Amino acid sequence: VVVLRRQMKSSGEWAKAEAIFRELEDKCGTPTAKLRQVADAMAVEMHAGVASDGGSKLKMLISFVDNLPTGDEKGLFYALDLGGTNFRVMRVQLGGTIKQECEQVSIPPHFMVGSSHELFDFIAGVVAKFVAKEGEDFHLPPGRQRELGFTFSFPVRQSSLASGTLIKWTKGFFIEDAVGEDVVGELTKAMEKVGLDMRVTALINDTVGTLARGRYTDPDVVAAVILGTGTNAAYVERAQAIPKLEGDLPKSGEMVINMEWGNFRCSHLPLTEYDQSLDDESLNPGEQIFEKIISGMYLGEIVRRVLLRMAEEASFFGDSIPPKLKISFILRTPDMSAMHHDTSSDLKVVGKKLKDILEVTSSSLKMRRMVVEVCDVVASRGARLATAGIVGILKKLERGEKERSVIAVDGALFVHYTEFRNCMKSTLKELLGEAASDRVILEHSNDGSGIGAALIAASHSQYLPVEES
Ligand code: BGC
Ligand code: MG
Repeated sequence: VVVLRRQMKSSGEWAKAEAIFRELEDKCGTPTAKLRQVADAMAVEMHAGVASDGGSKLKMLISFVDNLPTGDEKGLFYALDLGGTNFRVMRVQLGGTIKQECEQVSIPPHFMVGSSHELFDFIAGVVAKFVAKEGEDFHLPPGRQRELGFTFSFPVRQSSLASGTLIKWTKGFFIEDAVGEDVVGELTKAMEKVGLDMRVTALINDTVGTLARGRYTDPDVVAAVILGTGTNAAYVERAQAIPKLEGDLPKSGEMVINMEWGNFRCSHLPLTEYDQSLDDESLNPGEQIFEKIISGMYLGEIVRRVLLRMAEEASFFGDSIPPKLKISFILRTPDMSAMHHDTSSDLKVVGKKLKDILEVTSSSLKMRRMVVEVCDVVASRGARLATAGIVGILKKLERGEKERSVIAVDGALFVHYTEFRNCMKSTLKELLGEAASDRVILEHSNDGSGIGAALIAASHSQYLPVEES
């Protein structure tokens, strides 16, 4: 009886919950015209960012990758992928069919906010153990040093392909003493300490690895986008169109630019009070605003904040506020996705998630429907804005109407959140028109941060001249 009474909200409370929802929907609105403004602003900021360092919120970082894989890469290379919730080390045999082995370790949270040497010592330890297990299927010619492509998915100011200093942390990492340090130097020191003889041949962003991986199989790949824990894009720019590029222009005439679009911001972005409080309470307030409304680390958290307000102001979950609902990041994006995709008539999955995660013991169908609506509004805004960003890149590239342009995309949000991915595809049609949208393809590029890193390490190997003779 008690439970029933609690579930039966007064009509005033429902009206209040609905008003909160309508306000959310309104503030998150992304009509076509607004998306076009975002795309235009993205292209403008890209221009400003390649003109000079500090010229834009977009850092438009020079990657020193001026040659993408050709398909002729061969040999044994290692790759390290650091930048999400997990970190991976891989061994990749290139040439013919790619053979690979991988080990994935979740990073103990205290290492994400501790000290630089603790993190790198931990990583070097895992790499050393993994290298020790190298089997006979993998072939390193005698007398050769092992080489590694290091995918480090944070903003880095590079001074060469294999060196660069960390500009800032993102995505829940916050290790103060590493900022401004050469990350390759830190990793190399840690590997030497554990007696591992390994040379870091390339330091790359995950977007750059994804671009390389994509290009390896499809020559029409012009850009790469990551939609995972964080979000970012990289693309191939004409060297001539990069005024801030110093020294001789690369022979290829091209340079891959790591945009760091997560830090994009413009007056057209639809922002809410939930985004504001999330940002205020984050490890990096005022930074990565585009990322905070698009990427996997944050979408579930935005939904939690909306539900919390409904609980507080409209008794949405009954007379009392579920204590768990007050815990930041308790509702993860994969859970949000599961609720959003619930196709059962009584929204069973939503009910179960509310119970398992928030300890809401009973929920009406009406409540569950409202939760799904909230997920939909938050996911659609993110997916539509990400698509506007892609259209901005195409604009900057002045890709012609008749050319085929492939965007290599990777990241768990894109791969596993079907509604998000589908929303991107329909938004692309909406922005480009049916005909042009056939020529712009969002293609899942698998494991760019692994194979992509190995490919770039291979094409810049210290032993290359020997290979060629
Ligand atoms: C980082 C980027 C990275 C992206 C996706 C962002 O937080 O700043 O360097 O590419 O996440 O992993
Ligand atoms: Mg990743």
